[in-house]
Amino acid sequence: MIVVCPSCSSKYSVHSEVIGEGKMVRCAMCGTTWQQYPVKEKTSKNTSDLLQSIFFWFIVFITVFSILFVPKTVSKYWPAAASFYKVIGMNNSPDQKAFVIKNVSSFFVKRNGNLYMGIKGELSNVSEEVQMVPKLIIGLKEDSNTSDSSFQTSWTHRLNYKKLLPNQKIIFETDLKNVPYTNLICDIKLNTL
Ligand SMILES: [Zn+2]
Repeated sequence: MIVVCPSCSSKYSVHSEVIGEGKMVRCAMCGTTWQQYPVKEKTSKNTSDLLQSIFFWFIVFITVFSILFVPKTVSKYWPAAASFYKVIGMNNSPDQKAFVIKNVSSFFVKRNGNLYMGIKGELSNVSEEVQMVPKLIIGLKEDSNTSDSSFQTSWTHRLNYKKLLPNQKIIFETDLKNVPYTNLICDIKLNTL
């Protein structure tokens, strides 16, 4: 190992065994004495290059592996990936069980002389993962017990949100023109496509 005098910077080549765990040494040039501890020799360049390249390929392998074989986990941390999986045909559409629709109510609004029936409610993500927000399919039909006519209609409502965080909830509101407004049953489905 190379021992350097802290005072005059003279260099001495000394066998590591001489220093052992540490030893008082004295500079022959300037007479300074100091406690010299073993000097760690630098790892050879080749070894560290090899380690670096192993580490690099390990990271590449892990990345490729997770993208190909763990779509669910990747989507969890990187929600934008969900649409990517759809394109290449892997099934990663929003989980129906991840959502709960609550507090659905109807109301009427008059706009430009037309009567609209509005439906509003609350969509929440009850899962522990970020979910892509599905479209809502709102269906309205006349309660068949009270009427012979079979008014039935449905429409799709797209929410302004792309994704919902765990426990996040959003209010949706949608309306339809010229609805017969007696004894209607409202049915809301999630369109996960
Ligand atoms: Zn010296």
